[in-house]
Amino acid sequence: MVTAQRNLRTGRSIWSDRRALSVAHRRLTRDVETEVLIIGAGITGALIADALASEGVEVVIVDKRGLAKGSTVASTALVQYESDTPITVLSRKIGKEKAVRAWRRARMAVGALAARLAELGVSDVAHRDTLYLAGDILNATELRREHAARRAAGLPSRYLDRTALRDRFGIGRSAAILSYDNLTIDPRKATRALLHAATVNGARIFAPEDMTDIAIRKGGVTATTANRLHIRGRHLVFATGYELPHGVTCRHHKITSTWAIATVRQHRAALWPGECCLWEAADPYLYVRTTPDGRVICGGGDEDIADEQRRDALLDRKTAMLQRKLKRLLPKIDTDVDYAWTGTFGETTTGLPTIDEVPGMPRCFIALGYGGNGTTYAAIAADIIAGAIVGRPDVDADLYRFPAHDAAK
Ligand SMILES: Cc1cc2nc3c(=O)[nH]c(=O)nc-3n(C[C@H](O)[C@H](O)[C@H](O)COP(=O)(O)OP(=O)(O)OC[C@H]3O[C@@H](n4cnc5c(N)ncnc54)[C@H](O)[C@@H]3O)c2cc1C
Repeated sequence: MVTAQRNLRTGRSIWSDRRALSVAHRRLTRDVETEVLIIGAGITGALIADALASEGVEVVIVDKRGLAKGSTVASTALVQYESDTPITVLSRKIGKEKAVRAWRRARMAVGALAARLAELGVSDVAHRDTLYLAGDILNATELRREHAARRAAGLPSRYLDRTALRDRFGIGRSAAILSYDNLTIDPRKATRALLHAATVNGARIFAPEDMTDIAIRKGGVTATTANRLHIRGRHLVFATGYELPHGVTCRHHKITSTWAIATVRQHRAALWPGECCLWEAADPYLYVRTTPDGRVICGGGDEDIADEQRRDALLDRKTAMLQRKLKRLLPKIDTDVDYAWTGTFGETTTGLPTIDEVPGMPRCFIALGYGGNGTTYAAIAADIIAGAIVGRPDVDADLYRFPAHDAAK
């Protein structure tokens, strides 16, 4: 406990202290013009910028905080194709055909992201299996149905009953689904590498710059900074994470706060086989992964809290709760904590994000409401939005449309 007290960094995510590529950026000193303006330099903005710049499109990126400083730096960065909404539940909400397509698309997105990060030589990317544990959303019987639905959709996985789960992983739950080919990453490192790649292909980054006003004009958009400088673009992308731009409404979008800890380094023998990612078919669910230096990251305790002060005030209580739950799940783990932090994300009622042109704002695109799968959906957003801008409509774009009747005021 003494060690934990000495090292504990409260409020700072584990990634803030890690080395990451430095990326050229500066303040805006005069008005500029560009083909595409991207507001937000988190994982979404970075992936979209990389996709567009590598196709030769002129890009400007701005961020009011700096690079990878929003939800992205808070992410525990389990990169899973498995949506927060099980395929059986999603089928009931949006129909089986669409649910299967959404799950398959997410699987492809994780593969594509792994390939791009490998191409860029990004370190600390690990390929991981995932264990989805029975909980209060799906019990053992429902989990068996979920497994069958995944198999029928062509998504390889294995159903483990209580005995198999205990024998193979030492975990005491009634059942789990084991799936393959997910990732863990360092989200700040990955984002900065993608932003760097975009700059190598000509993208310009201005930060910190707060965009306070957007005006649609004939043939384009003019965005104005807090310092009254203007950026004119033919297209605009809001990659602003959970912060909805002024005047944009999305009925099924809500703000959620979540909490996370990173433990002290573990003896390798205390870790579980394969160091697979763990999460639960529960609401709220616990999510667990390891880091390359042998720590365990554990997040959860999600609540519908938008107010940052209220969220931050809960940090000590949520840290203790996460330590307790982690110990119960993995008794061999030393749950002393080196980092404890909290952050915010947006989610939707279906668990699928909204990635679309903003109603009433021609040539303005937005990606929001990712839930716990921000990285995977950011990769899908990059495909869809970059595709729309270069004139290559995406075959799955219909899955992520704005709910009918939402519009920019
Ligand atoms: C604790 C925690 C754990 C999580 N764990 C996971 C996980 O394990 N796996 C996973 O996939 N996802 C996870 N998520 C979700 C994930 O972090 C987010 O979905 C993802 O990072 C969103 O990325 P983004 O680029 O869209 O948004 P952000 O990273 O929030 O970036 C948006 C950027 O827009 C900028 N911005 C906003 N408004 C303006 C403006 N007016 N002018 C200029 N700039 C502006 C902000 O400064 C910010 O930098 C987690 C989130 C939290 C908080």
